[in-house]
Amino acid sequence: MDAPSYTPQDAPVPEGVVVVERASTAQELGPKLNRTAADVVRFLMQQGEMVTATQSLSDDMIELFAAEIGAEIRLVDPGEEQEVDLRRKLGIDEFEEVDLSSAPPRPPVVTVMGHVDHGKTKLLDQIRNANVVEGEAGGITQHIGAYQVERNGQKITFIDTPGHEAFTAMRARGAQVTDIVILVVAADDGVMPQTVEAIDHARAADVPIVVAINKIDRPTADPQRVMSELAEHGLVPEAWGGDTIMQEVSALEGIGIDDLLDQVLVVAELEDLRADPEGRARGVVLEANLDIGRGPVATVIVQSGTLKVADPVVAGAAWGRVRALLDDRGQNVDSAGPSMPVQVLGLSDVPTAGDEFVVAPSEKIAREVAETREHWKRLSSLGREAHALSGGARLEDIFQQIQRGEAATLNLIVKADVTGSLEAVTESLRKLERDEVKLSFVHRGVGGITENDVQLASASNATIIGFNVRPDRKARELAEAEGVEIRTYEIIYKLIEDVEAAMVGMLAPEFEEVVTGEAEVREVFRVPRVGPVAGCYVLNGTITRGSKVRFLRDGVVIWKGTISSLKRFKEDVREVQAGYECGVGLSDFQDLKEGDIIETYEEREIARTATG
Ligand code: GDP
Repeated sequence: MDAPSYTPQDAPVPEGVVVVERASTAQELGPKLNRTAADVVRFLMQQGEMVTATQSLSDDMIELFAAEIGAEIRLVDPGEEQEVDLRRKLGIDEFEEVDLSSAPPRPPVVTVMGHVDHGKTKLLDQIRNANVVEGEAGGITQHIGAYQVERNGQKITFIDTPGHEAFTAMRARGAQVTDIVILVVAADDGVMPQTVEAIDHARAADVPIVVAINKIDRPTADPQRVMSELAEHGLVPEAWGGDTIMQEVSALEGIGIDDLLDQVLVVAELEDLRADPEGRARGVVLEANLDIGRGPVATVIVQSGTLKVADPVVAGAAWGRVRALLDDRGQNVDSAGPSMPVQVLGLSDVPTAGDEFVVAPSEKIAREVAETREHWKRLSSLGREAHALSGGARLEDIFQQIQRGEAATLNLIVKADVTGSLEAVTESLRKLERDEVKLSFVHRGVGGITENDVQLASASNATIIGFNVRPDRKARELAEAEGVEIRTYEIIYKLIEDVEAAMVGMLAPEFEEVVTGEAEVREVFRVPRVGPVAGCYVLNGTITRGSKVRFLRDGVVIWKGTISSLKRFKEDVREVQAGYECGVGLSDFQDLKEGDIIETYEEREIARTATG
């Protein structure tokens, strides 16, 4: 069966590290490694993987083949390499050192965080009402996601979505807009779980914290207690020789607000925030939506340069020419400089919060860049499955990192049922630290594993460890989408054993997957109020309602979820066997096509035995 196109086994492989895109096909991979597509296909066939030359390969397959022929590769997301070129086109040089020492100062951008009901919203309202920037008095304040106030002639920008969700979601996308966090703690309630979360999120992002001890108007207020509780979490007040600024306030009665703003300005000064107002603007999309009358509307915070009406812009995969700029009072403005939030009208599409916003050298380039990104975005969602588990030091790949001789740090988020067990778990984990592996606790908390934890894990490349707690559905879904590893345990020594095993490269997978059924999509039709329904033919096994499912197109996973409805003719049924036709409804997946394969599977937990 040898074809003449096979390359001899000992043909030289390229020297050095070859960059290979995830989800490459054999046709693309082969030539990069001085082999033919047929070499790749044949090798994979020997490994029991039936692929065609034009089918996207998984990370494992690519790595296996590279290892087989002794080539060194680095897997990158599709578009990642192009992104460098695209950014160069936009005039952005990643490695350029920018000297800002003579640039003018810029206003700080502040996010308010803290436990629910501690007064974040009240504080933001109070600050806004008392200090709106002088000028067009009477302009109706508009919610655009951020606003600016003035204090002693200096401006401060506030992100007016309080809490760490937005903050961390942005960071997970690689955007950092916040310069200073105001941590609100109610003086009558003290440090609560979300207070601790907020501290950890701010720390993970390396953003300084100013504490606002709120509700001091309440008779039960006890600021001293709050301070000592905060000190336990490493925030020691200046009064006690620490370096955390704490300000007593009442958001309700407007007490201490100006002092709080002064403190923010002190920290801003220390941080020495500067930006060059000259040149083409760059910034970050804070929020965006589709407005019926106005089209796509995006609020951006300018980080450098000055954004002007008529500028050609790119925001993620959206582009356009700025039609109008509106400030936080809904007024038209001609331009926006550093740290100023503005609404931008005129984009082709709705960008995603966290997208970088850049003024392009020309409209043509703006369009080219956006369209190329859109193209890669589509490709990478096809290859999603293949790259879901990429990234640095998580439990699963810590060993490889150690072996490469890199000093590895294992980033962990630990959630437990009660404080006692949280302490016990942390203590035991700390004992595992060795020279070559350090542990870093990005966040520790009591309670179930939430979407927030997953977002933080994704932003800081951490593994989540749960002790007597489980992720909720949203957390699980997000973890799956973001490739975040969650491990849950009920027995402490099992947990320790696993982490230990990971360090020596013997981590057993937690779940084993068993495919239970396979069906082919023969026809797709839309049912009003139900959405798309796939008319399928069951090829193997059994398709069961409620079971986990993967959608495969040309062998590539394009969607994962559950089967929400299953019908034989018009009847709802629980399961359909091989050899029969059925209708499958998948509530939130719209992009079905004829020829797609539906694969249902079960995850069976593997009993972990002592590794040795
Ligand atoms: P958030 O969940 O942190 O945004 O909290 P809110 O701003 O919604 O405030 C929660 C509750 O606490 C509301 O009923 C507020 O009126 C009240 N509150 C906020 N700040 C103060 C304060 O300084 N003093 C008093 N007494 N109540 C306050």
